[in-house]
Amino acid sequence: MPDKKSFIVSLHDAHPGSRGQIAEQVAFLAERGVMRSSILVVPEFHHGASAGGDAAFRDAVTAWQAAGHEIVLHGYFHDRKESPRETLSTVFWTRLYTNREAEFLDLPREAAQDRLARGRKLFESLGWQASGFVAPAWLMAAWVPGILAEMKFAYTTTLKEIVPLGAGDRPEAVPPIASQSLCYSARASWRRFASAVWNKQLFQQLRETNLVRLSLHPRDLEFPLLRRQIDQIVRSAVKRGFEPTTYGEYVAR
Ligand SMILES: [Zn+2]
Repeated sequence: MPDKKSFIVSLHDAHPGSRGQIAEQVAFLAERGVMRSSILVVPEFHHGASAGGDAAFRDAVTAWQAAGHEIVLHGYFHDRKESPRETLSTVFWTRLYTNREAEFLDLPREAAQDRLARGRKLFESLGWQASGFVAPAWLMAAWVPGILAEMKFAYTTTLKEIVPLGAGDRPEAVPPIASQSLCYSARASWRRFASAVWNKQLFQQLRETNLVRLSLHPRDLEFPLLRRQIDQIVRSAVKRGFEPTTYGEYVAR
């Protein structure tokens, strides 16, 4: 159904330390009629506690999946502790665009493969069905999607695209779906202000299309300016007939 309007909300950086914030976002969305989202779980956020080692977090994620949310693999460590040294060509992405979180930007191939395999194994052991992988800060080496396809992930996403990987019963990869995600930069007040101005404009464009993507990070709802705008965008999208779905379901449609 090409005319159907879809609304994909993704909740980034779920890990034991952000469980309360993600739970609040899930409730915030539900109050506004969005019962499904894609929840991006980091196996060992910043080399900290394992997602599988914290019973409260494990139970929360399992319950979200049972309620219709999708669980997505989001990096492994979400940091650059074991990454190669920054070079002139990567320093913009690693230090200015992100706060040293671009884990999959320049890892050696074997290390990337190893982390993907470990993440997937952890998810499987917990009963979480990860059909998608999203790299921290959406930044990854050009060869990462090829590895993901080999490992039968169904899709990945970037800031500007959803990338189906042609896994499973779809032998040929389908072309990427262009659609820029709404996304806030909350780590400084000027960034919050600038991103609110930018996202307001972007939403005005997106609401004329068939797909609205909204990416939330754990602290976004803590800032009144962002909370107000996210509230407006979610309500407006639902009112305009955008149907809440997940990335996994959207790609499989
Ligand atoms: Zn992230």
